[in-house]
Parts: sequence; C-alpha cells; structure tokens
Amino acid sequence: MVDSSNIENIGFDFSDEMLDEIQKNIQSIIESFDVPDDNKNDVIKKINFMYTQTKHLSLTDGLTGLFNRRHFEANLEREFLRAKRYKSDLSVAMIDVDFFKKVNDTYGHACGDYVLKEVAFLINEAFRKTDMVFRYGGEEFVVILTETDASNAVIPLERLRAAVENNHFKYKSQDLKITISIGVTSDLDNAQTPWEFFDFADGALYKAKENGRNQVRIAD
Ligand code: GH3
Ligand code: MG
Ligand code: MG
Repeated sequence: MVDSSNIENIGFDFSDEMLDEIQKNIQSIIESFDVPDDNKNDVIKKINFMYTQTKHLSLTDGLTGLFNRRHFEANLEREFLRAKRYKSDLSVAMIDVDFFKKVNDTYGHACGDYVLKEVAFLINEAFRKTDMVFRYGGEEFVVILTETDASNAVIPLERLRAAVENNHFKYKSQDLKITISIGVTSDLDNAQTPWEFFDFADGALYKAKENGRNQVRIAD
C-alpha cells in the first residue's frame, strides 16, 4: 500500500530550512525585477501564499490532517538533542491500532479509513498543546511528550487507550470495537541517537502486542 505520509517514497525530501531558503531566493529574484513595486508586492504575496500551502501539504497527512512522518523525524531529532543538552525529560510513544487488517478485510478500506480518522481525532484530543502528534505510517501514530517522563506520559496515554476502547465507532450502521496498543519510553540515558530512543518505544509496543494488546507498556 502506498503510504501518502511517507514523502520519501516519491523522492521529495527537502528539509524545512531548504524550503525557507528557496522561498527567500525566489523573493529576492522578484525584488530585482525592473517592474513597478505594486506588481512586485502582489507577486511576492501570491508566492508566499502558495509557499505556505505547499509547506503545509509537505508536513501533513492527507487522510487524518495530522503531521506526517517526515515532520516527526525532524521534531524527534530536535527534541532529543534539546532534552539531552538541557537534561530535561522527554517521552516518545508509539501507538498502533490492534488487528486493523481485520477491519479492512471485513468491512473494506473506506471503513478502515474512517477508523483511522476517528482514532487520529481521539489522539489529537488526548494531549497537551506542547505535545506533538504525528501519523507515522498506515495505522501507526507517534506522540512526542516534552518535559514528561514515562510514568507521567502513561497518564494521558492510558486515558487515550480507554477513550478508544470506549468510543462508539459506527460505519454505515455497523458497530465496531476498536482498541490500540501503546509503547512508550523516556530512557534518554541509554539512547545514543534519536532513532535508538524511538526503537525503545517500538520495542515496548511489540511487547504490548505480545502481552495481549489494548494496553500501554513502558520500555524496560
Ligand atoms: P496488530 O494488532 O498486530 O497491529 O495487527 P494489524 O492487523 O493491525 O497489523 P498489520 O500491520 O498486519 O496491518 C496493518 C494494516 O493497515 C495493513 C494495511 O492494509 C492497513 N493500512 C495501512 N495504511 C492504511 C490506510 O491508509 N487506510 C486503510 N484503510 N488501511 C491501511
Ligand atoms: Mg502496525
Ligand atoms: Mg496494527
């Protein structure tokens, strides 16, 4: 399945800084044109508008409206380095919908998409404004919780787990029971890189699945 949130798949992978640089270059080229200032300003405004829209599209996922994997990677790296440097707490949680393939296989992809949108909405509701929520891939989501250790991260994560379990999912008069499993870590000391840190959360998610699903698990 093509994952629209994974921009690398279509060979488009500019960093935010590069995009900002390109915009500045275009702007200075327009400013150097020998045309009336009013026209220039108009063109610059239009380009800025298109640029803002393009940037938004490059950072978000079309189905859920959440930030995408590319944006997650940039943010994870930055928050990891920041937390290490200032010795602050940081948690990362990986969330995966249980038996999601069964939803698609039984009720069809449109129903699966409805479930993903609904789950994304519940995830977005569950956290503080300072936390960041992303769609990582198919039915996988990640949350970066700043200034939060794993035992405190479990509080909103557990609330979210229960909210999904108790949510009334209904697609074309079909009632659905949906649960999620979550792995979380705040073990910065044992991680050399952001990806290693993220792997701890992924490992805990795997254990939550093994242990019966519909649960939050902190990495050992
Ligand atoms: P587990 O409890 O172990 O996580 O089982 P699972 O069935 O959720 O896991 P698996 O990884 O086998 O299946 C994930 C499925 O997600 C496979 C794919 O069909 C589906 N999927 C991925 N992206 C999308 C999407 O954008 N829309 C829909 N409808 N389905 C998707
Ligand atoms: Mg999965
Ligand atoms: Mg799954």
